[in-house]
Amino acid sequence: MSLTSAGNTPVSTPKPIVPNQGMGLYIHVPFCATKCPYCDFNTYQGIESLLEPYLEALTTEIQLWGRVLSNPTVNTVFLGGGTPSYLPEHHLPRIFEVINSLFVLRKDAEITVEANPDDLNQSNCTAWLRLGINRLSIGVQSLDDGMLKLLGRRHDSRQAINAVEAAQVAGFTNVNLDLMYGLPGQSMDQWQDTLQRVASLSPKHLSLYALTPEEGTPLHQWLKDGSVPNPDSDLAADMYQHARDHLAEAGFHHYEISNWSLPDCQAIHNLGYWRNLPYLGVGPGAHSRLGAYRFWDVSSPRSYLAKVKKWAASNPGAYQGLTEAALESASPVDGWEHISPEIDSSEMMILGLRLLDGMDLGEASARVGQDLEAIYGAQIDELTGLGLLERSNGLLRLTTETYLVANQVFTRFVG
Ligand code: SF4
Repeated sequence: MSLTSAGNTPVSTPKPIVPNQGMGLYIHVPFCATKCPYCDFNTYQGIESLLEPYLEALTTEIQLWGRVLSNPTVNTVFLGGGTPSYLPEHHLPRIFEVINSLFVLRKDAEITVEANPDDLNQSNCTAWLRLGINRLSIGVQSLDDGMLKLLGRRHDSRQAINAVEAAQVAGFTNVNLDLMYGLPGQSMDQWQDTLQRVASLSPKHLSLYALTPEEGTPLHQWLKDGSVPNPDSDLAADMYQHARDHLAEAGFHHYEISNWSLPDCQAIHNLGYWRNLPYLGVGPGAHSRLGAYRFWDVSSPRSYLAKVKKWAASNPGAYQGLTEAALESASPVDGWEHISPEIDSSEMMILGLRLLDGMDLGEASARVGQDLEAIYGAQIDELTGLGLLERSNGLLRLTTETYLVANQVFTRFVG
């Protein structure tokens, strides 16, 4: 068997393809103009020769899944990576042509494209709006030029501001900006200045991420050999707290550990992940969670191209519905696992608690078909007693003091 099956419970009967409420569609773009020294995502620089074969493979994969899953309804589309805005102009129209022909894309679907400031201009924004793309997520990261240089970003603060303004002038009303804090050498003043200037750009949504030095990245090595100073974790915690205060004053709702939005502007696609709803991921390394299965495509872009070709040349039409046989036959799928009731419950708790308004245990129990209160009663009591969780208006949620150490809570719901 070429696949890695991590499942421990064989399931031979076909499972429902996707629940009636539809699914999210994630499209992974593995290209970046240059690789940032802190990034460990499945993205590459210098593989532009694969751009056209990628378009061919990606659209083939989308078509094949559309057939296997019998033209499912798609609620949200998210093009991420990598740098979707780095794709040649003709890629996105072709991708949406294929999506529209094999999937039922809801008229009110949230459609997000991740973009880097150095790619954005009014002309490409206008073209994307015409395709139905209605949300942009822009990788600003900082408005301090020294920090941007350290992060190896291709843009400076002026370009970032121009990009946001170009998107808004073109007509994007739903814009997210990604920012990073806890950077080597970053001062509170720099962070406050970035936040203030970013808020004045009128984004609808902000995602703030603390720098996590990932092993194997150049930044991790620089920190190890002392060529850049180690970030101060106490200062990073203060920056997070400052962001909470400042953004609350600016009218933003802190709805997920790393995410803030204006009213009615939460990221619907990402809410689907946190609510443990179904999604299909296509492209190198993309993960899916559909029906009773989680599966993931091969990471290497070159292998991905070959494996999609192999799948297309087999007899994909023989499979209708998401079964083990269908997963085995889908060549780009590198591994899969059956989501057992135990895994389902555990994930429901861990993901649901990321949402700061809290989770409705009754509703979550109904969705997993198990009584979560009964399964996790002891853990919930203990964590509530420690002041890490609290109950409010019938919802269970993290206490504010726990946001930065939420993983300590989540580990109690594993296994
Ligand atoms: S642009 Fe984004 S995805 Fe690409 S290397 Fe930089 S951080 Fe990673």
